Amino acid sequence: MSDTAPTAEDMIKYGMYIDGKEVPGASGKTMESDDPYKRKPWAIVPDGSNDDIDAAVAAARKAFDTGPWGSMTATERARLLRKLGDIIARDAEELAQCECRDNGKLYREMLGQWQYLPEWFYYFAGMGDKLQGDTIPSDRSNFFIYTRREPIGVVGAITPWNSPVLLLIFKLAPGLAAGCTFVVKPSEYTSVSTLELAKRLDEAGFPPGVFNVVTGQGSIGAHLVEHPDIDKIAFTGATETGKRIAASAAKNLTRVSLELGGKSPNIIFDDADIEVAVNGAIAGIFGATGQTCMAGSRLLVQKNIHDKVVDMLVEKTRSIQLGDPMAEATEMGPVANEPQFGKVMEYIDVAKAEGATCAYGGQKDPELGGIFIQPTIFTGVHNGMRIAQEEVFGPILAVIPFEDEEDAVAIANDTRFGLAAAVWTENVHRAHRVAHKLNAGTVWINAYRVVSFAAPFGGFKESGIGRENGVDSIKEFTETKSVFVELSGAARDPFRLG
Ligand code: NAD
Repeated sequence: MSDTAPTAEDMIKYGMYIDGKEVPGASGKTMESDDPYKRKPWAIVPDGSNDDIDAAVAAARKAFDTGPWGSMTATERARLLRKLGDIIARDAEELAQCECRDNGKLYREMLGQWQYLPEWFYYFAGMGDKLQGDTIPSDRSNFFIYTRREPIGVVGAITPWNSPVLLLIFKLAPGLAAGCTFVVKPSEYTSVSTLELAKRLDEAGFPPGVFNVVTGQGSIGAHLVEHPDIDKIAFTGATETGKRIAASAAKNLTRVSLELGGKSPNIIFDDADIEVAVNGAIAGIFGATGQTCMAGSRLLVQKNIHDKVVDMLVEKTRSIQLGDPMAEATEMGPVANEPQFGKVMEYIDVAKAEGATCAYGGQKDPELGGIFIQPTIFTGVHNGMRIAQEEVFGPILAVIPFEDEEDAVAIANDTRFGLAAAVWTENVHRAHRVAHKLNAGTVWINAYRVVSFAAPFGGFKESGIGRENGVDSIKEFTETKSVFVELSGAARDPFRLG
């Protein structure tokens, strides 16, 4: 970690991306993007304004309504999507490095993620030209009725800082395949990878205006949501922000899909393979420094194995290597930004004040300092505590004991969230029985933190609205139109319905 302050010349400068061009933004204001490991800025990006949002929406509108994109067939769009997938695969290392510098996530995790991302473009490229309408059996012999699935229009995509491009691609791949155009507002903490992605769309040959990126604060995101020329908002971020977005999108009846927070239960039964389950508990909460929406932040452990599980957990946690996200041996990087560091440290104090026992960690890492937080395990937690009910979004695990299956399900579902859950058991009957009773959009059995472009992802309850990924997700980027064709050519009574 070097301590010399970077000059503007040391930093990489980016423009925002509107109508196929890299532009500085109307006000000319900029903001710095910090490297959370080195704790110094490494890139300068435009601090955009509402004027930039207006320009980007106008470009996306024009591309949708009158540009070459609008007249392309789905097969032609698919060719561009496949090409984009190939370019991302080619540049995965460079793109992964950008993301590590912006949010401090491990290079090996981000490289794996970027190498996997092309699959989204290949999968949805193969789907755009299979978006078929129906021919409807008509109740009148003189009518032929059919439906068309048409692209919804201009999509405003708003993304968080923890996996900026993965969460964008969940929206972008199906949306482009369906024929939509996009205005993206990435998190103010992690704009760079989305701007790098824009260059790759350009190289792949997407026409100007199809993909626009406006960087800046949350307030310009709010302007995007309220914009009358936006047809759909696809948002990933905090539940409270999602509620504000849903309320303001309602003013124009703009469609919304929301991928929000979680407080996911990871349930270990006494008939589980304990060693495997404890590894899963660690992956669930300390992977990505706990900064994932699907973090297994509540570990529910059957009472008769509680102490054994906690001992094993503490032992394994003790050996987790914190350090430089770029280093091969590192297992946990820093928290992604200063405000998040403050929030996580506050929750550690809350848990202690509520009477939870800190079985491991519980402080800023004494050796690395900066914004590194030790992987932290709290025991003696009951489900009513704030540490069990509120999303921390950091490496803090709350261990909660339970008696039996019924008790486990009751505790697991006693939350306002419903994003994900896991069940650890060797009993196949119990595994499925419990999976069916859990109120969560994704349930893993003897696994944690697995996603696929082919499997729907989204939340029950306050974890969101809608699903991303999977065959049906492309439909969220379409409107259905019914077309009635009169076959007889005879004049009809103008004053009768039907
Ligand atoms: P956030 O809600 O603070 O910000 C997300 C994005 O919304 C940012 O781009 C921000 O600038 C923008 N924004 C802020 N206020 C806005 C407003 N009023 N109108 C429009 N846009 C606004 O979230 P964050 O801190 O960046 O990310 C962490 C959160 O994201 C966590 O709660 C996490 O659970 C959630 N998340 C959910 C998923 C999922 O798929 N369910 C995935 C990852 C992260």
